[in-house]
Amino acid sequence: MGFDIVVIGSGVIGHSIAYRLKQEDPQLQVTVLGDPVNSLQASRAAAGMLAPFCECKVADPFFEFCRESLNMFPEFLEKLTSVSGVPVYFSQAGSLMPSSSFPDTWDERKHFFESESIPHEVWDENRIKEKSPYLSKECGEIMWVGEGQVNNRQLHDSLMAASRKLGVHILEANVSGFIRKESSVCAAVTDAGEIAGDKFVLASGSWSAQLAKVLDVNLPLKPIKGQMCRLQLQDQFLDYTIHGMMTYIAPWKEGNGIVVGSTMEDRGFDSSIEDKVIDELIERAAEILPCLKDASLIESWTGLRPAAEDLMPIMGRSGRYENLFYSSGHYRNGILQTPHQAEYMISLIRDDLDKETPEFSPSRYNL
Ligand SMILES: Cc1cc2nc3c(=O)[nH]c(=O)nc-3n(C[C@H](O)[C@H](O)[C@H](O)COP(=O)(O)OP(=O)(O)OC[C@H]3O[C@@H](n4cnc5c(N)ncnc54)[C@H](O)[C@@H]3O)c2cc1C
Repeated sequence: MGFDIVVIGSGVIGHSIAYRLKQEDPQLQVTVLGDPVNSLQASRAAAGMLAPFCECKVADPFFEFCRESLNMFPEFLEKLTSVSGVPVYFSQAGSLMPSSSFPDTWDERKHFFESESIPHEVWDENRIKEKSPYLSKECGEIMWVGEGQVNNRQLHDSLMAASRKLGVHILEANVSGFIRKESSVCAAVTDAGEIAGDKFVLASGSWSAQLAKVLDVNLPLKPIKGQMCRLQLQDQFLDYTIHGMMTYIAPWKEGNGIVVGSTMEDRGFDSSIEDKVIDELIERAAEILPCLKDASLIESWTGLRPAAEDLMPIMGRSGRYENLFYSSGHYRNGILQTPHQAEYMISLIRDDLDKETPEFSPSRYNL
């Protein structure tokens, strides 16, 4: 059987593209290939913070792309959940930045938020007591920033369910090779056989470079490991995500506890989880939210962020193969980028995009 579009990778990036393609054109035959429960995949390992403002320092095209994606979330989730029937926890309560975590850059951050008209407020001691009383006094002043958060595992579940409901063919098999003819990809080779297609989308997160290599393409992308954990804490202790110094805290709410992250390690496909590292994460987070010291550990895990050499996403049309597209390298903010990335990619695949964003284009690496 041949497909119009073969998406390789079953994380939030691959499934969001497949779901939106099928929604736009129900006649299209779309398939998603890949193991959806790969234990290292980023989509289920993330904290779900939607944080363009705390993450970006300059108003470049990446910042604008992420900001737009944050704005797209409410409508994107409303439509997604109405198709999938799988709810996704979404909060627009915002993020907090303790001044004690940013002693040298506090004024710079404030200036950036002001100059870009980013919703923010500086909270003094009284305001902190009123809005978030469980924070440590050592945090000093707090900056509230108007960002969001999702439960990314629910987002992934919802995207998979929506793809399936709309008739996307889901094949839980990894790709090990390709059949090519001159400058075209003809089929992806899997354990379950050859999957032929008209167009192929490489959306395999940290594994994209390995697959590109099979196509003789040198994709400058590597995994950046993050160790994380989740602690049991009642919902009332925290309403906001917190960005601290080398730590962040994300309340998953709905009785799901609090996620504490994360390391940034350049260690290839290393899957280890180190108790000492997890203890340090909790210690640092407890300096901000002291009740975490006594919270019981629910789980800890490792995930891999797909990082391109310049840390920008690689989204666009291949220069080498006429029917190949990339959407990878979403690095630390792929959950945030999901809605905008999906719109960008479906426009490109359907030949509707006016102009590729040069900063994200595969052409910057001659891919
Ligand atoms: C610890 C951590 C915390 C993070 N926190 C946040 C956050 O708070 N906010 C945010 O916006 N982002 C966050 N991110 C980043 C975000 O999770 C990623 O950018 C995003 O999930 C990337 O999605 P993806 O679908 O490209 O990759 P992945 O989710 O890694 O999916 C890749 C898919 O490719 C499949 N695959 C692998 N090999 C093959 C093969 N040979 N054939 C077919 N398929 C294959 C895998 O099985 C997997 O399904 C975090 C990431 C990590 C690791």
